Amino acid sequence: MTEVATRAAGMPRQSGPADADWSAAVTAVRELAPTGRVLLICHVNPDGDALGSMLGFALGLRRLGVTRLQATFPGGLDVPVPFAELPGLDLLVPEDQAYEDPDLVIVFDVAAESRLGGLVGRLPRAKASVVLDHHASNTRFGGINLVDARAAATSMVCEELLDRLDVPLDVEIAECLYVALATDTGSFKFDMTTPQVHEMAARLIATGIRPGEISRRIFDTRPFGAMKLFGEVLGRAALDPTAAGGHGMVWTYATLDDLDRHQQAPYVLDTLIDPVRTVAEADVSVLVKQLGVDEWAVSLRSKGAVDVSGVAVAMGGGGHRLAAGFTGHGTPGEVVLAVREQLDRFLI
Ligand code: AMP
Ligand code: MN
Ligand code: MN
Repeated sequence: MTEVATRAAGMPRQSGPADADWSAAVTAVRELAPTGRVLLICHVNPDGDALGSMLGFALGLRRLGVTRLQATFPGGLDVPVPFAELPGLDLLVPEDQAYEDPDLVIVFDVAAESRLGGLVGRLPRAKASVVLDHHASNTRFGGINLVDARAAATSMVCEELLDRLDVPLDVEIAECLYVALATDTGSFKFDMTTPQVHEMAARLIATGIRPGEISRRIFDTRPFGAMKLFGEVLGRAALDPTAAGGHGMVWTYATLDDLDRHQQAPYVLDTLIDPVRTVAEADVSVLVKQLGVDEWAVSLRSKGAVDVSGVAVAMGGGGHRLAAGFTGHGTPGEVVLAVREQLDRFLI
């Protein structure tokens, strides 16, 4: 094994949660998981970090011999195609089949209970609940909260808990955690890409996973129809150079009809914010994606001039300083106008 493949003894671990919280989590898993019902939950409309952290941890528990084990998330069990080959997906059950009275609940990448939908009631019924997360806005709704706002992804918290449980990384756990880490760092490009991120990536790659193949699958593959849809939605983008105190805002929207016309599933829009946020003349980018008649999922990104998590929280959502989101109502123009009005309040 290479030097980075193991955690050197005595090396300071990535700080964040208190030692007492790590110990409480380890004790809860050791006492409840071997014989009890264990339910793992990640956030609604799961992304790579939510699914990858949950499934990587699930595989770790399986290695510990845990047999009564389920993984789930609220809403329909639609796993976005890029994540449809993740190891551990066989553990996934629809929310209505998830243990009604689990002994242990572990929650991944969820900043607030609102992101748990109908599954929120499982937490108070369990003997213990553990929340693994990295959102600064986390409301600490678990019995035990392992929240590290300095971690680029929940999978970093997940790796540490597996380590403290003496579960070694294997190629399947590593693939899940790598997908999670690569997704939330935008392929190791975002500001949170610390030395610890690359050290963790090195440990994961040392197990034998194929980063090139994984990246192609999760970032660089989309149906032809999705490419045509992107072309149309990008073609209607508008630039507002005076927004955000002159730092500029670019925005566009995609409707359910757009998806229908190109025969695409909603997940293809998950990465559409990335070309939008390349616009040089705008610090802030906004993508408004239709969910229903009058309902829109709004993605916000900033390059550093605006704390978009503040904007998102003001609009009833949440997220990180430079990447956040909320659910909006009205027309796309009305939703964006409401965002524009908040931007000046959250200039950094
Ligand atoms: P997205 O734009 O969907 O990629 O989301 C970016 C970030 O914002 C993620 O960290 C999410 O956790 C957060 N986020 C997105 N939508 C919501 C929402 N409706 N409520 C709370 N947080 C959200
Ligand atoms: Mn997430
Ligand atoms: Mn995350």
